[in-house]
Amino acid sequence: MDGKLAAENVREKAVPPDSAPSHFIQSIISEDLKQGKNQGRVHTRFPPEPNGYLHIGHAKSICLNFGIATEFDGLCNLRFDDTNPSKEDVEYVESIREDVRWLGFDWGNREYYASDYFDRLYHFALEIIRAGKAYVCDLNADQMREYRGTLIEPGRNSPFRERSIEENLNLFERMKAGEFTDGAHTLRAKIDMASPNLNMRDPVMYRILHATHHRTSDHWCIYPTYDFAHGQSDSIEGVTHSICTLEFEDHRPLYDWFLDQLSVHHPQQIEFARLNLSHTVLSKRKLLELVQQQRVTGWDDPRMPTLAGFRRRGYTPEAIRMFCERIGVAKRNSTVDIAMLEHCLRDDLNKRAPRVMAVLRPIKVVIDNYPEGQVEGLEAVNNPEDPSMGTRPVPFSRLLYIEQDDFREEPPKGFFRLSPGREVRLRYAYIIKCVDVVKDPQTGGITELRCTYDPETKSGSSQSKRKVKGTIHWVSAAHAIEAEVRLYDHLFSKEDPDDVPEGTDWLTNINPKSLERLNSCRVEPILANAKPGERYQFERLGYFCVDSVDFVKERPVFNRTVTLRDTWANVQRAAKKA
Ligand code: ATP
Ligand code: MG
Repeated sequence: MDGKLAAENVREKAVPPDSAPSHFIQSIISEDLKQGKNQGRVHTRFPPEPNGYLHIGHAKSICLNFGIATEFDGLCNLRFDDTNPSKEDVEYVESIREDVRWLGFDWGNREYYASDYFDRLYHFALEIIRAGKAYVCDLNADQMREYRGTLIEPGRNSPFRERSIEENLNLFERMKAGEFTDGAHTLRAKIDMASPNLNMRDPVMYRILHATHHRTSDHWCIYPTYDFAHGQSDSIEGVTHSICTLEFEDHRPLYDWFLDQLSVHHPQQIEFARLNLSHTVLSKRKLLELVQQQRVTGWDDPRMPTLAGFRRRGYTPEAIRMFCERIGVAKRNSTVDIAMLEHCLRDDLNKRAPRVMAVLRPIKVVIDNYPEGQVEGLEAVNNPEDPSMGTRPVPFSRLLYIEQDDFREEPPKGFFRLSPGREVRLRYAYIIKCVDVVKDPQTGGITELRCTYDPETKSGSSQSKRKVKGTIHWVSAAHAIEAEVRLYDHLFSKEDPDDVPEGTDWLTNINPKSLERLNSCRVEPILANAKPGERYQFERLGYFCVDSVDFVKERPVFNRTVTLRDTWANVQRAAKKA
């Protein structure tokens, strides 16, 4: 494995990028290169544990690690840190692969697993035992916690700390052979129970776990802890810069200690602040809880902050990469407003999503003076931002649908859409006037609007001089396609989901209105051929994406990706004032 690693995966010389560094990690690496460290190599990795789906926080780490490799002409590995068989699954491995690829990154043939190194790690552990720097301990988890001490009190030595090397080797061998039950023994590093850093107080290196691993099956019943596996795995892979989140800063002395004991290649660990996003949770434990409790339909529910959820919702990888670029990389934890992510998305979709008309809550309109049976193909622009996207014909006829919201029987001041006796322009079509309101005699509800059109006002024609204040969208009833539309809002009503009154938990902050399903929407006939995953702007309403899970050709389901209203500018303005 290692010989192969060395041959295939070492690129000779990394080169600093042409542009000036934009964050501190780039500066550190540029400096390392100047000083000739690591023989001029840059090698990073993205190290997920396959115990859940990737989320937008992981995207930040992926963009950073793969981005640095690209900028410095180095390499980036995908490594699964699969040291905890009870929580891991191949489903997660596969989803992670798919998501990293979807984001636009390629790890070549460098897909590794900590479990590939179980043998090596086991021998590393033996080496440390032989050096008298590790011992088998019989304390159970509770006792171990008690002996560990606190931030203000030193810990106490385990009564098993002074076991002889021979006894330790013998017990560790028997642990591996499966002689003991889960938790009966652990292997611990012999460091310093009085260290001010709790991670250095004889941390566990190996535990007994009779569990089937998704890759090594039942070959092992002892597993290295994350802390013992992570640094050594980086070292084995020849990683030069181990980039991780701030909570590992306190673990760095421990990783250094292991590598020093073993005298192996020593990657440099650099910590950065993890991404927190408003109105959502980014903890895999909590996301798993949402799935297991069926608060959402799955990991790929379009309300989830997972990459699978964002993809199904209609986000583009470009928008997510742009977001990761714009939030930057810092040393201090902060929370980014989700409005900024949505801003990046609109920026991207504005240029690429074709525009169409769709009526979500239809009300019938009859154009009294339009000949029965006549159909006109009116020319509509696919995207004014990009003329190369061309135009399409939109059928116009005597029977139309417009949005219920675009009609008011008693219009308030400033309402410029349709109301009795008033005129409005139909997008790409004519000016119409409402001449009558037909109601259900039983319920009093409006059933249809009778209108007339002015044939002299066809959009784009030379005689069309007349102007009215409002323009609304519409579809031709006989030609429109029925569709279901799902409107999403933030999964949590509060900016910080963990902000709850005493005695309740974060789940109480779930937004009860995070999903609204509309079942009798009508969309333009051009959408008869819409394919799963395709994105459109529904004029005046927002961006929508054809759902790829609940796909029925005759009756497509559209997910609202994001509305058109950009709140990011307001957020920034408010921040400036504060
Ligand atoms: P846990 O370890 O609790 O299961 P995790 O979110 O740390 O969850 P990992 O699979 O260990 O999940 O994460 C893989 C990589 O992604 C790690 O290097 C981690 O530092 C990084 N990462 C995870 N969450 C974020 C985040 N919110 N922002 C930036 N990077 C993150
Ligand atoms: Mg982690």
